[in-house]
Amino acid sequence: MSTAARRDKVMDWEPGTLPKVDYGAGCYIFDTDGRRYLDGSAGPAVYALGHAHPEVNEAIKKQLDRIAHGYRYTFTSAPLEELTAIVAARCGGGLNNMTFNSSGSEAIESAIKIALQYQTAIGQKSRRLFISRERSWHGNTMGATSISGFAARRAAFEGALMPSNLISPANVYRPPSGYLAKSGGKIDPVEVGKYCAQELEDKILELGAERVAAFVFEPVVGAAGGCVPAPPGYAALVRAICDKHGVLMIADEVMCGSGRTGTWRALAHDGVEPDIMTVAKGLGAGYVPLGGTIYHDRLKGPMFAKDGGLLTGHTFTGHTLACAAAVAVQNVITRDHLVEKVHDDGLHFEQLLRRAFADNPHVGDVRGRGFFWAIEIVKDKLTKAPFDPSLAVYQRFRDRCFANGLICYPVGGNVDGKAGDIAIFSPPYIATRDELATIADIAKASLDQVL
Ligand code: PLP
Repeated sequence: MSTAARRDKVMDWEPGTLPKVDYGAGCYIFDTDGRRYLDGSAGPAVYALGHAHPEVNEAIKKQLDRIAHGYRYTFTSAPLEELTAIVAARCGGGLNNMTFNSSGSEAIESAIKIALQYQTAIGQKSRRLFISRERSWHGNTMGATSISGFAARRAAFEGALMPSNLISPANVYRPPSGYLAKSGGKIDPVEVGKYCAQELEDKILELGAERVAAFVFEPVVGAAGGCVPAPPGYAALVRAICDKHGVLMIADEVMCGSGRTGTWRALAHDGVEPDIMTVAKGLGAGYVPLGGTIYHDRLKGPMFAKDGGLLTGHTFTGHTLACAAAVAVQNVITRDHLVEKVHDDGLHFEQLLRRAFADNPHVGDVRGRGFFWAIEIVKDKLTKAPFDPSLAVYQRFRDRCFANGLICYPVGGNVDGKAGDIAIFSPPYIATRDELATIADIAKASLDQVL
């Protein structure tokens, strides 16, 4: 932590230290010293139902009293079957097949393996490469880190990772330099989308389509970019390019999915169906670790015909207790119309955030969808020049929010000096309009105190 950040001691909390968590209630977390924090980011966009939801807690206790885990080679279970049916119904279309593991990273590993298994099963074994995007984060395991475009989190492992084939992230606030050169600096979101989609086709042709297994992207970029929605039309163009070249489309919805952006599938907003999709954080809402990899009917036939099933799985695949918790979470979300609430109140949240930061000379961008919003803090709004990374503005802002009783999710967007400092606001779906307003108020006051 920088010296500047260390000086930011506010109230009785010392930046750089971790308070001890005690208990949670709704959108609030309490530490053992009695401090109360409004969970304005639901941790890392996880706690969709807030904390200590009585119905979810009850379902977990009930399942635990019966059995925690029935190993997948020996048993299926009612919670697993129920969760499969719920997720398939939520996804619609051909996304009816899935495997559940314990994290987003494992979900991505399974997605990678399913893509390779499928390509092998249809006689395309030369397709071993993955294309992904800069400023993306797909997880901490080696395969997931390999396809991630997050330089700071890759650096220590370079040389041991799978081959990396990155294209631009389709960020309308910061389009590729090639696009800006072509457009004379003018930014048209649809044109940015076309330009970035063309980068995918160019990359496929450069590598040789017969070598490319899949394209992986976050429909709304999370931890690596800060709530960056795809430009209009981008996802449909990417879908068409993937189809044209026999490349599978993998939508990583670990962070932006499960209702967080106001549709259960984030990509449903764009009217596009992927071949493979990953979910995690909001699926079980943090009550028990859980991730899922969902794959299309058209992939299942060839794989199951050749191999008899998926060639991937873990000890805790389909964990009974985790599935029971997620069934309870998803039933509450459905019964209380929380995805619809996130959509409607998300429009309100957007207005609150835009109003809060409209006059701030350092907030260059407010972006996102549903309950998934970020601000990008820059030194100069006109040139979009970021603050010097050594100032760790994102950390200081996060610390000040925390000291003021608000949890937000800081993004190391500025670690390479190529983007601003970013903070994510991704509250629990149950957050009231008053709580949304408190998030915007504390965030505004905190930024005024930092800059
Ligand atoms: N994919 C995305 C888009 C993520 O945001 C994350 C985590 O932040 C992951 C994958 C990895 O998930 P996990 O941390 O649960 O392994």
